[in-house]
Amino acid sequence: MFTINENYLKLQGNYLFSTIAGKVNEYKANNQDADIIRLGIGDVTQPIVPAIIEALHKAVDEMGTEEGFHGYGPEQGYAFLRETIAREDYRARGCEIKADEIFISDGAKCDVGNIQEIFGIDNRVAICDPVYPVYVDTNVMAGRTGAYNSITNGFDHLIYMPCTPMNGFVPELPSVIPDIIYLCFPNNPTGMTITKERLQQWVDYANKNGAVILYDAAYEAYISEKGIPHSIYECEGARTCAIEMHSFSKNAGFTGLRLGYTVIPKELQSNGTSLHSLWNRRHGTKYNGAPYIVQRAGEAVYSEVGKKQLSEQIAYYMKNAKTIREGLTSYGYTVYGGDNAPYIWWKVPNGKKSWQFFDELLEKVQIVGTPGVGFGVNGEGFFRLTAFGTYENTIEALERIKRM
Ligand code: PLP
Repeated sequence: MFTINENYLKLQGNYLFSTIAGKVNEYKANNQDADIIRLGIGDVTQPIVPAIIEALHKAVDEMGTEEGFHGYGPEQGYAFLRETIAREDYRARGCEIKADEIFISDGAKCDVGNIQEIFGIDNRVAICDPVYPVYVDTNVMAGRTGAYNSITNGFDHLIYMPCTPMNGFVPELPSVIPDIIYLCFPNNPTGMTITKERLQQWVDYANKNGAVILYDAAYEAYISEKGIPHSIYECEGARTCAIEMHSFSKNAGFTGLRLGYTVIPKELQSNGTSLHSLWNRRHGTKYNGAPYIVQRAGEAVYSEVGKKQLSEQIAYYMKNAKTIREGLTSYGYTVYGGDNAPYIWWKVPNGKKSWQFFDELLEKVQIVGTPGVGFGVNGEGFFRLTAFGTYENTIEALERIKRM
């Protein structure tokens, strides 16, 4: 008789967004005419910009010719894309990252989920609370939990770092030293950022204690203020302690096209073993490369015209963020984030719980957001709204909230 991976039984309930989808479907079934505004899941709504569509068409046409056909490509990605990323995302910012330290993939979710495979099972993992649930769940699936601790009602090997208004939603350096540290800035779900000085403290802490930082920079393109790092490699010493993940989903609308990348500097080692070579081995064994046409589309993200069109698209979403932030503030609510990120972290009024507020907003004004507690216990009492809706829906949502 086969057995199962029992670690899966330790996972908490449903994946957050499946639970939300279930609730919304149930509401729709009972209220068929309801005009629901979805500001919950962080999916983009604007079409792919013309420069990228043009690159896609060109690559599709190439595939129909003998000389332009591409079969299996290099698992790590085509040189044209890796070199473009090294030049545009790193060298242009003064960061020393080479093309062969960049691994192209079909998105950041797979990479942030899979990267834990190259680490020992007994590593202690530090995770922000609230947090993007993938970091926690993939470590639990792998069994990187340690023993169950009945006093803390949690697992020994998972160190939760509270991110609250008290610390500006940037975690304190933990006193129990972790081996693996997940950081994500600009942050999902709080929409808050970290200064270069604070990030440098994390890099110094990781180097001093032999820890590795897994830095998720999926929302880097939304940074508009000076002094906020776009990459952890802007900090001194990050090459010996940090892995960085990027997504093309939110900066270029690739949620349906799928493209991302992970950077592992060659100096990053554990007892003389290079993490770069481990990931290279893993990538080559379990992954056959992102599609050629999508990588050509990714290259177009960095063309002059592509950059211009995308900066307009980001400005569109950030106008939504500003509208939500300023609207809710003017109604007397407390909100965080939304300055350098497409998320607004809304303090639920009158001491209500996050899920109670979710039900209330859905039933009274047909707005779907994400209950903060779904991202961790320190998310209780908060509610996440995204700026990825259309401008018209964003305005309509605020009108409805005002009436409520
Ligand atoms: N990392 C964070 C913090 C995210 O919020 C998301 C998506 O919402 C991802 C990664 C996943 O990105 P991708 O679409 O590239 O898989």
